[in-house]
Amino acid sequence: MRSIASTWRFALAAALALAAAAVAARAQTPPRSTHLVIVVDGLRPDNITPDLMPRLLRLGRRGVVLNAHHSVYPTVTRVNASSLATGAYPETHGLLGNTVYFASVNPTRGLDTGARANLDAIAQAEKQLLTAPSIGEILQRAGRKVLAVGAGTSGAALLLDHTVAGGAVIHHEFTLPRDLAAHVVEKLGPPPPAARPNAARNRRAVDAYLTLGLDEIRADVTFMWISDPDTTAHELGIGTATTRTSLALVDAEIGRIEDTLASRGLLDRTNLIVTSDHGFSTHTGALKLAELVSPFARPMADGSPDIVVAEGAVHFRAAAEDSRVAAIVAALQKRPEVGAIFTRGTTPGGVRGAVPGTLSFDVVRWKHPRSAPILVAANWTRDRNDAGYEGASTQSGVAGHGTSSPHDIHIPLMAAGPDFREQAVSEAPTSNADVAPTLLRLMGIAPPKEMTGRVIEEGLRSGPTPASVRVTRTRETVSTRDGSYVLTAHISTAAGRRYLDFTEVTRR
Ligand SMILES: [Zn+2]
Repeated sequence: MRSIASTWRFALAAALALAAAAVAARAQTPPRSTHLVIVVDGLRPDNITPDLMPRLLRLGRRGVVLNAHHSVYPTVTRVNASSLATGAYPETHGLLGNTVYFASVNPTRGLDTGARANLDAIAQAEKQLLTAPSIGEILQRAGRKVLAVGAGTSGAALLLDHTVAGGAVIHHEFTLPRDLAAHVVEKLGPPPPAARPNAARNRRAVDAYLTLGLDEIRADVTFMWISDPDTTAHELGIGTATTRTSLALVDAEIGRIEDTLASRGLLDRTNLIVTSDHGFSTHTGALKLAELVSPFARPMADGSPDIVVAEGAVHFRAAAEDSRVAAIVAALQKRPEVGAIFTRGTTPGGVRGAVPGTLSFDVVRWKHPRSAPILVAANWTRDRNDAGYEGASTQSGVAGHGTSSPHDIHIPLMAAGPDFREQAVSEAPTSNADVAPTLLRLMGIAPPKEMTGRVIEEGLRSGPTPASVRVTRTRETVSTRDGSYVLTAHISTAAGRRYLDFTEVTRR
């Protein structure tokens, strides 16, 4: 008896000593930093003015402003959500547009990736939705996790952490994991309806982070998708009164996030990164790609056409004969509403597309087994709209994005927090694919080979100064044999990475 009792006493003493050591270790190790990435959908750099977005301006002044930040092409929401989540370009992650074509899901039509049900259908039919690991999956292996909160489409929210690897996704239409759903409604209330501005839904996404995120889920990385100004500007235009109001409301939410973190003593260990998924252009409505391409389609056995246009991608359901691809490209090059055209490259990594007068998919990092033979951008101008905002494109509707114009590609990026430089400005090019590698770097986790974005070292306190980053700017020009269509890609290079600034077309 006695020996058993003394053994227990010894075991108890040892356990208490271990517990005391653990408490002491925790007291000595400062709590680690967390990271909040706020994606303001459709935010242009010139939206960030003292009257519309004073808090965001102040955040940038507190930290580092990266003035040459790039949207990933095609400059649409879900392509960029996928690049933010994977640190890779479409050539690696395989989400090639807002509308995508998968014959295995629907042989005759493109699929809207804004709808989560379509993403689930792709995942089921193709075995995987994205063909690159997400930061959520990478963090799970390191015992860490991602929270995604979204006020935009269900598809955009899901793509931020599509396998929900040990983390959570909270959106007004769904919560993952499912067993968290009832608790989310209990905490946040029922989801509000959509509105212009979409302030109530944006507020709910912010609340999800400030309550569930900070108190319960405690993710290492949170992605927060804010649906304005995109939602409002698509319908009402850039710079209109309601769109300006939407910007002011988004700015107030950013202020509320900072103030809440500060009041809870968390601001000095939270890295805040604010960016967008794409810019915005005023639309003039002349490009109807499906109509331009339809004369080249042939009937399949069931009578349906053998060409499917999904956004700018021209897919062939059967063989894509070189002659027919060339004929379609030649017809499009004659149309003033058509901008840049991309085809498969003639040499790996080269800029020249296989069809004369086209750039290669490598210029836009779009070469993937899922690619179509032809990718088309709407044309653009520097024309100003009624509110004075520069940039128009030939797409339909009031305003939007998706082209390779500077107004759609050039977007804001700023970061403030314990790991970022203070009161700094950088002119070195960066892109949305560079955000995830930078986050991994801050957590001391090695990026996988699929993560081809770069660490934005010059934005970090520990990194080289922004001025020490050598930036080169080049132009690559291709043209049709008769010179009637000339296409130029403007490219920035830094830290061994190439960034497409914009393309330009001249016709004669
Ligand atoms: Zn968007």
